[in-house]
Amino acid sequence: MLSKQIEARGITNERVISAMSEIPRHLFVNPDDPAQAYADKALDIGFNQTISQPYIVALMSSLLADLPVGSRILEIGAGSGYQTAVLVHMGFEVHSMELIPQLRQKALEILSEQGLSPASMVNGDGRRGIPEKAPFDAIISAARSRRLPRSWVNQLSEAGIIVAPLGGRFRQRLIECRKEGSKLLRIDHCEVRFVPLLRG
Ligand code: SAH
Repeated sequence: MLSKQIEARGITNERVISAMSEIPRHLFVNPDDPAQAYADKALDIGFNQTISQPYIVALMSSLLADLPVGSRILEIGAGSGYQTAVLVHMGFEVHSMELIPQLRQKALEILSEQGLSPASMVNGDGRRGIPEKAPFDAIISAARSRRLPRSWVNQLSEAGIIVAPLGGRFRQRLIECRKEGSKLLRIDHCEVRFVPLLRG
């Protein structure tokens, strides 16, 4: 998975590669079919949700890889917990949100078994963020929206980064935004397909 899907497509950051080579992805997907877990595609995790394709997890993680160990990350849409595991492995203080209680519960169990528990995982609507834990050095979303929720921008520290899929059902772009004063500088990365950010 790493050499063919990730390094071959240009992601070589050591923190990302080491996290993804050490974390057993199949435990977060369907442990009964380990081969599928490492395939080059998104997979069903129940409740109409999907775990992102490994390359997209690597790309999104690599956009945060210049942040120092201990940086505070708000993750929206923990789902299976796999992206959470990668961020915790990279040394970040991860505060995660997940709307579906059953997914949150399962993710927390696997993360704990793997010794990769996040600093917190809230069951709630990620569009609100976690004001009492702000500011965050980065906000990363695994669910798409037409525009960035205002609360995310408000809860981002100066020079902080937001990585999120933006757009509608059929056309979305993975974007990276950096907060500079009252401005949000935007870099457009690539076309992606994500599940929607639901209303809680
Ligand atoms: N990063 C996840 C991907 C999960 S898919 C993984 O590695 O498996 C996106 C997730 O966002 C789903 O679990 C979905 O339940 C969650 N979600 C959707 N809308 C949400 C919202 N408003 N607040 C929090 N989580 C939300």
